[in-house]
Amino acid sequence: MLKEVLNHIERRNRFLLTSHARPDGDAVGSALACCQILRAMGKHADVVLHDGVPRIYQPLPFADTVVRAVSLEVNYEAAIILECDSIQRTRLEGLENRFLISIDHHISGRPFANVNWIDPQAVATAEMVYRLAREAGVKISPEIATCLYTAVLTDTGSFMFEGTNEHTFALARELVLAGADAAHCARNVYFGHSTAKMRLLGAALSNLHREGPLAWIWVTGDQMERIGAKEEDCEGLVNYALSIQDVEVAVFFRELADGRFRVSLRSKGQMDVAAVAEQFGGGGHACASGCSVDGPLTTAVTQITAQLRKNPFVQ
Ligand code: 5GP
Ligand code: MN
Repeated sequence: MLKEVLNHIERRNRFLLTSHARPDGDAVGSALACCQILRAMGKHADVVLHDGVPRIYQPLPFADTVVRAVSLEVNYEAAIILECDSIQRTRLEGLENRFLISIDHHISGRPFANVNWIDPQAVATAEMVYRLAREAGVKISPEIATCLYTAVLTDTGSFMFEGTNEHTFALARELVLAGADAAHCARNVYFGHSTAKMRLLGAALSNLHREGPLAWIWVTGDQMERIGAKEEDCEGLVNYALSIQDVEVAVFFRELADGRFRVSLRSKGQMDVAAVAEQFGGGGHACASGCSVDGPLTTAVTQITAQLRKNPFVQ
């Protein structure tokens, strides 16, 4: 599959690179790295993201060149879509009739493009982008290494999630050897938050509910507005609920403008939360997934926790 992807890249010249809305470290890091790799191959490439680059990823090399847009106007020969299981996840308009290459590592990954390279064994999409660079014979510059390392760092939960193994550390080693500064990358990601995010964390934790191996927290639209928090400030809040001893599954609910709720699910490994998210039209990984459900809050909480309680592990 990798060879086929490379083949299609070699035959074309103008590329658009994108990833999912509300991009995480793997989405931004993989897109930025892939863009540099294509340019090193002599191609024209632009990164376009529906929501732009979140604050903590703005220090990444070339993050300032990312175009924030909702639709595509320029004529690209192909689009490379990273980390997505559908065109819709990008929230970009105008992708439909283009030649699409999908590169994804999600277990819920679906073939929606003309060429689909899906490898759930990969610890991050960045690992696949790294393999692409090697196959293409592109030297991993310190800038590419920094983007890929940040993606691996964040998608493995700082090398803490299930699936982190000797290959992950071998990849991290290669990236550090190629010029990624591990401490610098970690500092930008973990010590670069907004004050509003910390206030939002306080609000979310004051709504903490615990029921045996389940814990859940939420923020309302009202709270977000009062605090002046942005959507991206919700990223990672769920992990604080998961950090409680004996909690196996944590859920974060965020009220949307239309009254529905965005749901983030996290598991310590005993339960597959991707399966739960998929029942509500979402998806993700066994240990980290997401979906949207109808409000109000009590309905959202009841729906999700009822599904979780069906798992024998929770009972
Ligand atoms: P988060 O909780 O950070 O929004 O998402 C966690 C993981 O689940 C990510 O890997 C993300 O790609 C995936 N995910 C979140 N929401 C959705 C969704 O609506 N659909 C699918 N397919 N995956 C999702
Ligand atoms: Mn990922």
